[in-house]
Amino acid sequence: MSKRIGTKCVQGGYTPGNGEPRQVPIIQSTTFKYATSEDMGKLFDLEASGYFYSRLQNPTCDTVAAKICELEGGTAAMLTSSGQAASFFSIFNIASCGDHIVCSSAIYGGTYNLFAVTMKRMGIEFTFVSPDCTDEELDAAFRKNTKAVFGETIANPALAVLDIERFANAAHAHGVPLIIDNTFATPVNCRPFEWGADIVTHSTTKYMDGHGSGVGGCIVDSGNFDWTRYPDKFPGLCTPDESYHGVTYTERFGLAGAYITKATAQLMRDFGSIQSPKTLTM
Ligand SMILES: *Cc1c(COP(=O)(O)O)cnc(C)c1O
Repeated sequence: MSKRIGTKCVQGGYTPGNGEPRQVPIIQSTTFKYATSEDMGKLFDLEASGYFYSRLQNPTCDTVAAKICELEGGTAAMLTSSGQAASFFSIFNIASCGDHIVCSSAIYGGTYNLFAVTMKRMGIEFTFVSPDCTDEELDAAFRKNTKAVFGETIANPALAVLDIERFANAAHAHGVPLIIDNTFATPVNCRPFEWGADIVTHSTTKYMDGHGSGVGGCIVDSGNFDWTRYPDKFPGLCTPDESYHGVTYTERFGLAGAYITKATAQLMRDFGSIQSPKTLTM
C-alpha cells in the first residue's frame, strides 16, 4: 500500500521492529564496534554495509535521509552539514577542474558565490542562463565539457519558478543530469523527479526544519540518470576509484546507488561535511 505524503512525513524512513524505540534514536557515537578486524576490513572495502565512523555515515542521519528520499521518490540520499555543502557535493561529485556547468541565474545568493567565485577557483566554470531564456539560448549555453545543469524549483529570493521539464529535456539532450535545489518547494509541494530532474538538493535549514533550530542539507538521487551511457563524461562513476580500493561505483552499486555512494565514500570521507546526529532535522 502506498503511503500518502502526510504519512511519509511522519513515518517515512523508519520502521521500528518489536520492542524498538518508537522515535528515531539519536546515535551519539563517533565509532561503531566490530568483533574482528576482518569485519572492519569488509566495511572499508565497501564489501559489507555498516557503520564504522560518523564522519562518513551515522544511523540517525541515514534515517532522516531515508525519509527525505521517500518523500522525493528517490533511490538513495545523504544528509550534509548545510545546504551549501549539499550544493557543493552535488556538483563536485561529477565535475572536476576543467569542467563546466549550466546554471539558472535565479538562485540563492550563497549558491551563486559558491559557484561563481569559490568553485571557479577550483577550475569549474559556470554559465548562468535566465530561467526564462529561449530554448536556443539554453542550448547555446552547453559546451563539450558540460557535466550538469543546476536550478532551483522556486528561486530564493526571486521566487522565479523553473520549468523543470524544459531544463531536464535540455540537460538530457546534452547527456548530463539536471540537479534541482528543492529547498523552497519541499517535496510536499513539488517533487522534481516527477518532472524529469535527476538529483535533488535541499537546505533543510529552511522549511524542512520548520523550527529555525538546525542548519542542514540533503542530496537525493532519482537513480534515473544512466552514467554508463557517457563513461567519458563521468569517469569518477564509471572507472575504478583508486582511492577506494579500485571500486567502480556504477558496477558495484548500480544506477540506484552509485552517485550517493561515491559522494559518501569520497567527498564525505575527505571533507567531513556531515550533519550532527543531534541536529534533528525532522
Ligand atoms: C539557504 C539556502 C541554501 C543554503 O543552505 P544553508 O543550509 O544555509 O547552507 C541553498 N539553497 C537555497 C534555496 C536556500 O534557501
